[in-house]
Amino acid sequence: MSKKILVLGGGGFIGGHLSKSLKEKGNHVRICDIKSHQFLPHSLICDEFIHGDLTDPNVVEKIIPENCDELYQLAADMGGAEYLFSGINDANVMSSSALINLNVVRECVRKKVKKVFFSSSACVYPVFNQHDPSNPNCEESTAYPALPDSEYGWEKLFSERLYQAFYRNHGLNIRIARFHNIYGPFGTWQGGKEKVPAAMLRKVIMCDNGGEIEVWGEGSQTRSFLYIDDCIDAVSTLMESVFIDPVNIGSEEMVTINELAEYAIGISGKNIRVRNLTGEEFLKKYGYPCPVGVNGRNSDNRLFREKVGESIGYPLNEGLTKTYHWINEQVLKSKNLQK
Ligand code: NAD
Repeated sequence: MSKKILVLGGGGFIGGHLSKSLKEKGNHVRICDIKSHQFLPHSLICDEFIHGDLTDPNVVEKIIPENCDELYQLAADMGGAEYLFSGINDANVMSSSALINLNVVRECVRKKVKKVFFSSSACVYPVFNQHDPSNPNCEESTAYPALPDSEYGWEKLFSERLYQAFYRNHGLNIRIARFHNIYGPFGTWQGGKEKVPAAMLRKVIMCDNGGEIEVWGEGSQTRSFLYIDDCIDAVSTLMESVFIDPVNIGSEEMVTINELAEYAIGISGKNIRVRNLTGEEFLKKYGYPCPVGVNGRNSDNRLFREKVGESIGYPLNEGLTKTYHWINEQVLKSKNLQK
């Protein structure tokens, strides 16, 4: 049966892919975003695209329709490590995203939206559980006592609690995912808001054979990266489940950042050296502390498997290869434009 769906932040990376998938399933999809999708035509991802600033309560009141079956809240002031962890965007990151969530959650109750999805983040997990790069602990229950390493993580924690409070006091039917590093084609790949995989692939693509790429920090920090198709499948499984507590959506294939660089270099077939920039070297070169984040982070999918469904693991190398080819096309396009 066709559902009436609203995707907030559908002009972004995950929201664009999600909207496309929901539309392909025959649903009526409305998107609201402050900007158009950079790479995908609106006709492909939705039935209606409304430009609006969700920090404005009047906009939120207008765009949430009556009889909305599902609302996906993905809008956030968001970016990669440089944007989120350098500290220079903290005020915007916290205030814009908190305002959006405050507006949205109230209006969802007023309009009696049937099911609401909120995208939280692995950045909610406390610093002290992520010191050991080979053994980070990101089990859902360990988010408390809280000590996220960024204001972005604190805002996500606040907003998780906000949606949970509206569930308890107003019966709002919620689903909350803590995403861990989602990557893939049709995402930001340059300009400072790109995430690690896109930045790494771009550096490798733009590097000549025999050259060198710069990797921030020692390169021994660990992370896991989930391919976008797996993320969309997991969101759909979560929405169909009855599980309402926050749950990780991520990959359990943990790699060091230098290993990620080696994967990217391997895909390119080029001979490229990695130069790790220490904290001191970074500060000297860029004028602010190296935004590497915690030492280790990996998704823990036990709760998802137990309460929600199967978690699918797209092999990192395959997802990176697809993303490499897409970014390569973008680099060629931008070079042609400059000619
Ligand atoms: P994105 O930046 O590509 O998408 C976010 C969208 O929100 C953008 O299109 C942006 O224009 C929109 N937006 C921001 N402020 C707005 C406003 N005031 N009004 C209307 N729209 C506004 O990010 P993404 O990677 O697609 O992430 C989607 C969600 O998932 C975000 O909430 C993010 O915090 C969360 N998340 C993503 C990752 C990841 O690895 N990509 C990891 C953890 C959590």
